[in-house]
Amino acid sequence: MKKKSASCRIIVLVMSVCFARTAFSQADPDTLAFDRYLQISRMIVQRALTDTAGYHLLRGLCRIGPRLVGSDNSMKAILWAKKTMENLGFDNVTLQPVQVPRWIRGDVESAEILRSPAMPGRELSVAALGGSIPTPAEGIEAEVVEVPGMDSIEMLADKIAGKIVFFNEPMDPGRTETFSAYGRAVAQRVRGPSEAAKAGAVGVIVRSVTTKYDNVPHVGTLIYADSLPRIPAAAIGLRDADALHETLKKNPRARVRLTLSCRNAPDTLSYNLFCEITGREKPEEVVVVGGHFDSWDKGHGAHDDGAGCLQALEVLSLLKRLAIQPRRTIRSVFFINEEFGLNGAVEYGRWAQSGREKHIAAVEADRGALTPRGFSVGSNPAVLEKMQSWLPFLSSALIEWIRKGGGGADIAQIKNVQAYIGYVPDVQRYFDFHHSDNDVFSAVHPREFELGAAAMTILAYLISEEGL
Ligand SMILES: [Zn+2]
Repeated sequence: MKKKSASCRIIVLVMSVCFARTAFSQADPDTLAFDRYLQISRMIVQRALTDTAGYHLLRGLCRIGPRLVGSDNSMKAILWAKKTMENLGFDNVTLQPVQVPRWIRGDVESAEILRSPAMPGRELSVAALGGSIPTPAEGIEAEVVEVPGMDSIEMLADKIAGKIVFFNEPMDPGRTETFSAYGRAVAQRVRGPSEAAKAGAVGVIVRSVTTKYDNVPHVGTLIYADSLPRIPAAAIGLRDADALHETLKKNPRARVRLTLSCRNAPDTLSYNLFCEITGREKPEEVVVVGGHFDSWDKGHGAHDDGAGCLQALEVLSLLKRLAIQPRRTIRSVFFINEEFGLNGAVEYGRWAQSGREKHIAAVEADRGALTPRGFSVGSNPAVLEKMQSWLPFLSSALIEWIRKGGGGADIAQIKNVQAYIGYVPDVQRYFDFHHSDNDVFSAVHPREFELGAAAMTILAYLISEEGL
């Protein structure tokens, strides 16, 4: 492949900076804002990378363990975060009550491929899907029907009654957009159990929706259709998914025993949590930066989404460390229960609409703390163009693009915001960690974490200063 020469790249960079400077100066002809913003952006990045303060807060959060919504651990983490916000000296530290569902994994989960009565079974690496009902205490034992993907289930429907359905669709490795591959493959996890129940299945096993070839099960929620029987469902690791596939090729009548002791419990009380730096000129206008504070009960919930929350908090912390008080209020919001029904986001959205404040923009970080790439923006073309003129500042934090797109599930619940903004890092490895024991603190790199936090800080600051 032909590469651009170094001098050619410098010319392109200089031209784009000059173009942005001209565009920017036209928007703000009376000030030296461009140079000032460039200087502030560089200071933010340098400070983030030097201190790595937010990353060290993530270490503290991960020490508490995972934060499944409604769990005791989740409450411990919320109180830890509240104290952290207070210790950092932010304004209006607020716990906002939210009723949330509760599901408990239980102590027993196992699956094995049965062999002859004389031979021990082959154990599978398994984890119940969030929301699954339990099996009877002795487990369910049945022949297995492999279904290569949701598209095939109707064709195989007459073979499924009384069996365990094994959904075995991998994430499409040919797609560079891993979220799009995830979006397609995850249907078997979310809707597969009810589709299988419709055809008379007694249980479901799902190939983990992941990009990492190991044997760690990746969990996540299922959604039972109200009109259909509920059947137990679990994920298995990729190596075991392939082993089960091979077993079924040799012996289509192979049997599996699945035992799960998970259960749903009554709804309980939990909290959104937020704090802010009050705006110096327009305190009633708010820029939200946030993530979701609940996680799955595997690993530490480090990338998903402890990192997103603490990057959002690092936005405020960096401004404070640099003694910058923004023109508008910047608020860091930890939404509760993104994974199991968005209750926290719905409550925040309802509250935001009922008050006198005006939310002008919302930024969500929920794609892992990996190397920054861009921001995807849901807004009108004029706002998008304005934000694109800020790329020379954001490029200090390695942001390469700002494109039209979605913001995120939590911020989508805040109505009438001028821009819904999703922070987008390089997500090639995100699904290696997602919803699994791989999502631990050591999987997060301090530089990637801090560059992402710096990118969001620069963006939130510019929105606060310039408006949209
Ligand atoms: Zn998430």
